[in-house]
Amino acid sequence: MASSLEQRRHLATEIPGPRSTELMARKNSAVASGIGVTMPVFAVEAGGGIVQDVDGNSFIDLGSGIAVTTIGNSAPRVVEAVRQQVEAFTHTCFMITPYEGYVAVAEALNRLTPGDHEKKSALFNSGAEAVENAIKIARAHTGKQAVVVFDHAYHGRTNLTMAMTAKSMPYKSGFGPFAPEVYRAPLSYPYRDALLSKEGAVDGELAARRAIDVIEKQVGAGNLAAIVIEPIQGEGGFIVPADGFLPALSAWCTANGVVFVADEVQTGFARTGAMFACDHEGVVPDLIVTAKGIAGGLPLSAVTGRAEIMDASHVSGLGGTYGGNPIACAAALATIETIEAEGLLERAQEVERVLLDGLHRLQADDDRIGDVRGRGAMIAVELVRSGTDEPDADLARAVAASAHRAGVIVLTCGTYGNVLRLLPPLAISNELLIEGLDILTRTFSEVQS
Ligand SMILES: *Cc1c(COP(=O)(O)O)cnc(C)c1O
Repeated sequence: MASSLEQRRHLATEIPGPRSTELMARKNSAVASGIGVTMPVFAVEAGGGIVQDVDGNSFIDLGSGIAVTTIGNSAPRVVEAVRQQVEAFTHTCFMITPYEGYVAVAEALNRLTPGDHEKKSALFNSGAEAVENAIKIARAHTGKQAVVVFDHAYHGRTNLTMAMTAKSMPYKSGFGPFAPEVYRAPLSYPYRDALLSKEGAVDGELAARRAIDVIEKQVGAGNLAAIVIEPIQGEGGFIVPADGFLPALSAWCTANGVVFVADEVQTGFARTGAMFACDHEGVVPDLIVTAKGIAGGLPLSAVTGRAEIMDASHVSGLGGTYGGNPIACAAALATIETIEAEGLLERAQEVERVLLDGLHRLQADDDRIGDVRGRGAMIAVELVRSGTDEPDADLARAVAASAHRAGVIVLTCGTYGNVLRLLPPLAISNELLIEGLDILTRTFSEVQS
């Protein structure tokens, strides 16, 4: 277990309690309003499947700080590795006097990512920064400029990644102009595609042909540097494309001199029951972007890929002051060791069975649950108005708010805001997981739409 924190949901006050309410008032006067919060409770300790707040309330964690603390919060190996590194040195800048931890993380990424070709890596701080660098590398390698992304995509909040992200509110609205040469293609979205054609929903190759048609006609392979895709979409609603969609896109890229980039920022590092979501379909991306779950909560991200593509940039064309910070690298090595030593891929598969079992039972009794989907510890339900396929964002909001008051951290997502997503840490016990599901189930019966 991740820490000595008692693994028990406990409500000591109303949610939020008095100390959190006081801190929220300070937050509101000191912190820019653009920084929103999902739950107005202030954390003091977290570990296993529990987050504890300043009022002594203990919440069941079904969010992992947005898919970051996959191995658990304050995971023992991470704590020890960080402690040792902090005492040795905190920063030299890898571009000034390098250190072994950075190289060891690059070696681990080259070993763990899909494919056994020769690979290289570069380290950065955030997911968005790594996505931007994957584009720089693909452009340098191909000598081309255009980038294709997909409907419902989320790639970050910096200028280039805002252009790549699909949803206007809250990510883009009012923040333009956006970077040019970014084009959007249709995704395979089995639940919504089925509303148009039953066969179309399960035929990933057909969906890929639809996307490739748009790409060939509206962009042209001769102008296209890279296709960037989340193998399972995160913020867009945990959309798992139909079988065959990703392999067909990847094959088209290979045949047309286009770099196939998998954005595995949310899906990587055991989250989906495989080390990377591409592994489920045997897809080998040219470049893979990782962050979130990579370092047990410390800020680190990476681009890993074919050595000849990764080496396309001139010397000193890539980098940054903090990229691959030594403390974050120590945490990443400890995270990878934890995943491998504790069999966490299998644990994520077990979490999938528990979650799908509970949610399918809920769906059988409640026709507001249009779809149950996802892989591993990345599972969601898409909510609709009773007996229709109309997205119901109000219901998702009401269920999440009610679960929060009952002591369960859940998040919403999706283009229509109507998806409840579950991202528990793999360090959570089955007892807490099932209790969290029971509370969600109860919440559904209480919340009328
Ligand atoms: C979170 C996320 C990003 C952005 O990562 P940041 O670290 O927030 O910049 C990019 N892509 C995907 C798929 C994500 O889930």
